[in-house]
Amino acid sequence: MNKVIIIRWGEIHLKGKNRGLFEKMLENNLKHAIKDFDCTFKKISGRYLIKDFSEFYTEDILNKISKVSGVHSASVCEIVKNDIDLIIEKAKEVCKDRSGTFKVDTKRADKTFPMLSVDISRKVGGEILGSNKNLKVDVISPDFIVNIDIRESGETFIFTDTVMMMGGMPSGSSGKGMLMISGGIDSPVAGYMMAKRGMKLDAVHFHSYPYTSEQAKEKVIELTKSVGEYTGGIKLHIVSFTEIQEEIHKNCKEEYMITLMRRFMMKIAEKIARNTGAQAIITGESLGQVASQTIESITSSNSVATMPVLRPLIAFDKIDIIKISEKIGTYETSILPYEDCCTVFLPKHPLIKPNLKKVMIEEERLNVEELILNALSNVEVIDL
Ligand code: ATP
Ligand code: MG
Repeated sequence: MNKVIIIRWGEIHLKGKNRGLFEKMLENNLKHAIKDFDCTFKKISGRYLIKDFSEFYTEDILNKISKVSGVHSASVCEIVKNDIDLIIEKAKEVCKDRSGTFKVDTKRADKTFPMLSVDISRKVGGEILGSNKNLKVDVISPDFIVNIDIRESGETFIFTDTVMMMGGMPSGSSGKGMLMISGGIDSPVAGYMMAKRGMKLDAVHFHSYPYTSEQAKEKVIELTKSVGEYTGGIKLHIVSFTEIQEEIHKNCKEEYMITLMRRFMMKIAEKIARNTGAQAIITGESLGQVASQTIESITSSNSVATMPVLRPLIAFDKIDIIKISEKIGTYETSILPYEDCCTVFLPKHPLIKPNLKKVMIEEERLNVEELILNALSNVEVIDL
């Protein structure tokens, strides 16, 4: 085996007393992410190392690591023994297809190595130049750096590239949230954003079978699974919303449909959150994006919540949300054209600025508690 992956973490450095705990969480999450690969995992000062894996799986392992929150960056390195000739030979090989400018940066933890870092960098740099006419040295702002890390263990790591990873905080370090997930673009992104900040997630989805199809439900399962890759798994609670929608449709003014639905969703999501140990609700709302996301609409649904409602996308433009959904791999699924429960009984003129008092009067036409109990008595839970 002649490759190693170096993994660096980020913000944990800031966490004072809790640092040990956070590091342990990150370590466990990383081990869980790569559990299906035959490899060894080791902690060294300020880094983790993955070794002894089949090179064939390098990209797959990197892909798994890219979904572990708290990891800042990773580099795939060549390994040779601490021997200047072997180092030169490998450094030349690493640079043989490159062009542009470079410099060599050497760290010598092995103080028994018979050359100083500056001399190693100079010597290796000269040899690389001699072997590849497309390269020039630029020590101020090179196109790439040949890093040579001579370790006390007797191994030298050589690498040129650092891949930026997810960043954020280790999953589990910021409690647990209940993600309200629809089949749209926004809510999976909202889940990812909170996962990145270290929240464990459960998800809740409201569907209106038979008004909405089995395919619409499958789409949400698929999306939830994608979000779950960033939290080491996720449970999806699927709630039937049909009766509630029919009752609102039957008893309330048409334009209140969405406003009242939102309040029911929030109440039910919160009940499930409490039952499963989640401490906050997460939505994909973005201020002003649609009628149901004006500050008045948000006031109306927010007023039934008694736990924090986190809206990580509140100030994001759609175009920026789309960019993230493409990056995290949910976009293609999100744009599949299956109906959402919000499109059932859609009013011609939904309230854009609902008045909370009037909303509550309208809601009194319904047996709210009974409808909520009915919905909660029939929740399907899928472990993804
Ligand atoms: P998204 O792209 O996430 O569907 P959206 O732009 O379509 O959002 P809305 O339909 O107003 O916006 O929904 C706002 C938020 O309400 C969603 O981001 C989601 O958190 C929640 N939500 C909407 N529909 C559902 C549903 N069927 N089940 C669970 N949560 C939902
Ligand atoms: Mg939607």
